[in-house]
Amino acid sequence: MMSDLFPLTRWGLPMPGMFLCAGPCSAESPEQLRRTAAALAGCTLTFFRAGVWKPRTRPGTFAGAGEQALAWLAAVRDEFGFPVGAEVGTPAHVEAALRARLDVVWIGARTTPDPFAVQNIADALRGADVPVLVKNPVSQDLEAWFGALERLYNAGIRRLAAVHRGFAASTEGPYRNAPLWRIPIELKRRLPQLPLLCDPSHMCGRADMVPPTAQAALDLLYDGLMVEVHCCPQEAWSDAPQQLSPAQFRQMIASLQIRRESADNPSFETEIRKLRHAIDEIDGEIIDLLARRMDVARQMGRLKRRHRVSTLQPERWKEILASRAGAADRKRLSADFIAQLYELIHEEAIRVQEEPLFGQTEQQDAPPAP
Ligand code: PEP
Ligand code: MN
Repeated sequence: MMSDLFPLTRWGLPMPGMFLCAGPCSAESPEQLRRTAAALAGCTLTFFRAGVWKPRTRPGTFAGAGEQALAWLAAVRDEFGFPVGAEVGTPAHVEAALRARLDVVWIGARTTPDPFAVQNIADALRGADVPVLVKNPVSQDLEAWFGALERLYNAGIRRLAAVHRGFAASTEGPYRNAPLWRIPIELKRRLPQLPLLCDPSHMCGRADMVPPTAQAALDLLYDGLMVEVHCCPQEAWSDAPQQLSPAQFRQMIASLQIRRESADNPSFETEIRKLRHAIDEIDGEIIDLLARRMDVARQMGRLKRRHRVSTLQPERWKEILASRAGAADRKRLSADFIAQLYELIHEEAIRVQEEPLFGQTEQQDAPPAP
């Protein structure tokens, strides 16, 4: 599937060791765009970004400068030589972006999950030779992300990449949008040839977390970054807290380390083999322990049924969560991780206790004598 996508090396855009996009959340005025670009002059950017039509959650907030801003982007390209790109959300946006000869367009997180909108955009892009980036949907829906990529591929787009910008999640954490790295990792497993980029700005929601999050993405072999940079972040008309100043951006780029999948170093290979062996053994023990735990849960299910006692024991469940969190803390395991793991284990324990109801195991137990 999607076997003839272009690798980034064939995109015909600058790739300074990785895909690197920077620019403000929104184009606010010709001066703001020019000042930001001027402060980035000399950086090799794959493209300079600016939102022209802004998908705002609430009406009445700044919704972007609209089509006039495409000319401001074109002026940045002419003066500083940066390829330029913007988000498109409708066929009319696509037509205007193509008329302005934008070098890249992207589909935003609110548009990606809407099959009608994505299909309309894909139809408008048919025959256009423009690279398209597809942000993950706001919700934790890998299939919708995949489906949007497929619609663009089916419309003939071959310079296609995914942008991971994080997901709406109920767990409180430091992120504006939780990374949930397992979702893009699964996308990469299914489509290894699809370039994968990270947008740490919308993920973090605050500037100080952007550099470490960008490094975390590179550590996971991401192909590059899309970063919000504003000439004067505190005055930005949208997403002010998460935009880097040009100086902060330069500092981040200078300190980022690009990772490789292997080291070509015999002592690394020996060490990693030993550690992987240890991990394999521990995983074997984890699976044995889980199997034993589920066997005990089955016995408990039988006992509870015999005594007409409910499978769910809210007080016991509360106690398990609290005591495991305490034990995990003493072993320096993250509370969030242990809570999520135990939710999964508990869900499975309930499932195995209910198995007999679905005719999957042994004989019905006789009810106890009254
Ligand atoms: C953006 O990149 O400006 C934007 C609106 O991002 P997202 O679609 O990821 O929210
Ligand atoms: Mn933004």
